[in-house]
Amino acid sequence: MRSAVWQGVGAVGLVEVPDPEPGPRDVVLDIGACGICGSDVHAYAEGAWISPGAPMGHEFAGTVRAVGAEVAGLAVGDRVAVNPMGPCGTCPQCAAGRTNLCRDMRGSARGGLSDAVLVPDAVVGERLFRMPESMTFEEGAFLEPLSVAVRAVRHAAPDLSAPLVVAGLGTIGQCVLRALLAYGATDVLGVDVSPARLAAAAATGAPVLDVRDGDLRDALLERWGTSVSPYQQGGNVAAFFECSGALPVLATATTVTRAGGTVALAGLTSSTPPVDVNTVVQKELRLLGSFAYTATDAREAFRLLAEGLVEVAPLVSHRVPLARVGEAFATQHAVDGSVKVVVLP
Ligand SMILES: [Zn+2]
Ligand SMILES: [Zn+2]
Repeated sequence: MRSAVWQGVGAVGLVEVPDPEPGPRDVVLDIGACGICGSDVHAYAEGAWISPGAPMGHEFAGTVRAVGAEVAGLAVGDRVAVNPMGPCGTCPQCAAGRTNLCRDMRGSARGGLSDAVLVPDAVVGERLFRMPESMTFEEGAFLEPLSVAVRAVRHAAPDLSAPLVVAGLGTIGQCVLRALLAYGATDVLGVDVSPARLAAAAATGAPVLDVRDGDLRDALLERWGTSVSPYQQGGNVAAFFECSGALPVLATATTVTRAGGTVALAGLTSSTPPVDVNTVVQKELRLLGSFAYTATDAREAFRLLAEGLVEVAPLVSHRVPLARVGEAFATQHAVDGSVKVVVLP
């Protein structure tokens, strides 16, 4: 079968590999759809977090082709969305319930950009979620990025009636925005520089701000007014979700967030931005990292998808056949024209 592997910076290509055979606790899926993730793009464009020959693609859904003898509750032909994370379950972080910070993710499923993939430890409701008839493979492939967003939102636990910002409307930002709306946020603003991404966010009914038109800081101070804390002037944003990874946004985020507010960081970045420590200290901001997700987050994300509370289908901007997987990466890398590129075998 075909499998897309990282071959070097700017080079992802197909190789022929043997079809996977499931062990007793595994299943093999025929891939229905696989999304290209922001982290895949960092790997593609910069060689980040990857080594030559590594199979790519972790946002996928498919049809069960083969089931290990000890797997319960799944049959050949079942359509499933996948939580690809495979934490060890025994390290100190796993023991504390932070399986997203597990030190040994060896059990993770990789290689969704293939004809088929092996999913280890195939526990229904944890690694695999049986999709309702109404859910497409493309929607199922959003389980992974939506799980990331659900964790960021749950972790930040913002006041849903207060001013909220989602900066960076790539897939994670789009999913954060949609999750906030699903939970009842009434005053959330999406921010980006890409017309396609702004349009996709605006389709939710939320207001959006095109920061090519002016200064983000000024626009947010104008929108929600200023607040005063003992030593700092600032804005009135209660929680600022930074999903862009763009350096200047972080400085703006600490400025426009009100004292006692939260700056939730969900975007990875290619360099190290400076942090305005005095502002963070004197406004007692919560600077909150959020990384990946646990099985609990994935279950909640699946619920949002299955119950139709979050609509992700409009985020698919491009569909590319697996045979042209290199083109899929180039397209996802070109921010302006793409929201989500989905690869179909
Ligand atoms: Zn991802
Ligand atoms: Zn662990």
